[in-house]
Amino acid sequence: MNIKMVDLVGQYLKIKDEVDAQMQNVINAAQFINGAKCRDFSANLAGYTGAAHAITCANGTDALQIALMSLGLQRGDEIIVPAFTYVATAEVIALLGLVPVLVDVEWDTFNIDPQKIEEAITPRTKAIVPVHLFGQCANMGRIMEIAAKHNLYVVEDNAQAIGAQWKGVLQGRENPKSGTIGNVGCTSFFPSKNLGCFGDGGAMTTNDAELAQRLHCIANHGQKVKYHHSIIGCNSRLDTLQAAVLDVKLKYLDEYISSRQSAADYYLQELASVEGIELPVTADYTTHVYHQFTLKVRDGRRDALKEFLAEREIPSMIYYPLPLHHQEAYKDMGVIVGGLENSVELSGRVLSLPMHTELTEEQLHYICKAIKAFYR
Ligand SMILES: *Cc1c(COP(=O)(O)O)cnc(C)c1O
Repeated sequence: MNIKMVDLVGQYLKIKDEVDAQMQNVINAAQFINGAKCRDFSANLAGYTGAAHAITCANGTDALQIALMSLGLQRGDEIIVPAFTYVATAEVIALLGLVPVLVDVEWDTFNIDPQKIEEAITPRTKAIVPVHLFGQCANMGRIMEIAAKHNLYVVEDNAQAIGAQWKGVLQGRENPKSGTIGNVGCTSFFPSKNLGCFGDGGAMTTNDAELAQRLHCIANHGQKVKYHHSIIGCNSRLDTLQAAVLDVKLKYLDEYISSRQSAADYYLQELASVEGIELPVTADYTTHVYHQFTLKVRDGRRDALKEFLAEREIPSMIYYPLPLHHQEAYKDMGVIVGGLENSVELSGRVLSLPMHTELTEEQLHYICKAIKAFYR
């Protein structure tokens, strides 16, 4: 059956001619850094997301770091993040001498709990970094209200949710896409992300022209004029070859999202009656682009189910096995708000099933049959 967690080869083969031609053009022109394709892709990404500006950079972690660098924060300022997320979200906060303030997530959506955000705010709080985990928007309606009330920045970690959409009007825009609602949205083009390149890549989106300039400047050694450095920046560029790949794949992103949603619908329908697992829940205010299809496995049987599937050559992954405050490097860092009970409990229960654009009905059937067999 050859089921993969992610099938990047199958996806590539369908667009091989187009991608190969675009990459060859870059090689022929030897425009490896800041080539024309970088500008084309930035413009097309802004168009796709509906953001006024898109600034590309080297990876999603850099995007988060540059976004935080652009806000004029001081050492010791507090940044609110969910305790259940990929480490990059908190890592950049720590690296910049800022204080990560960890708050719990909602059980259903895995996303930061707005109620817990309010409890975590102090006079030192400067920003909130919601993560649109696994592919659905965090509750940006509530988060933007809280941010406005307390005068906080919002930096969206949109690495897993590019293309997801808020349902309704928010920030004066109808059905805004994830990553275009807060001050800055940060995304990743890591190969296995929903829009992945052939290496590392990332981008920031914003509707604020001044902020866009600052982000661009920081990503380019803090220079506006060549060899004149007005602020301390970093070196974070998207290679032209990656921009060429992404510019092709961006045209197919909505198709890719539909494929993921179809696979998710299949799982949701087939597994609805399995009592040992909780299926993913989509909040009513957002679409879900299913970067991951993540089960909550009951009765302490997560690892046994994973093992059972592995014996049948079905891969599965644990995203993430530990909440941030249980990670060795972050144990004594930052501020912990409340018991973070959901984050702890979810880390012990989550199991992500194969999810990608190339899953066949035969494969989905085989996976669901195996899960049902485990509970028989
Ligand atoms: C992938 C990811 C990142 C980091 O992206 P890179 O391109 O790997 O640096 C940040 N946050 C989340 C939630 C991610 O999934």
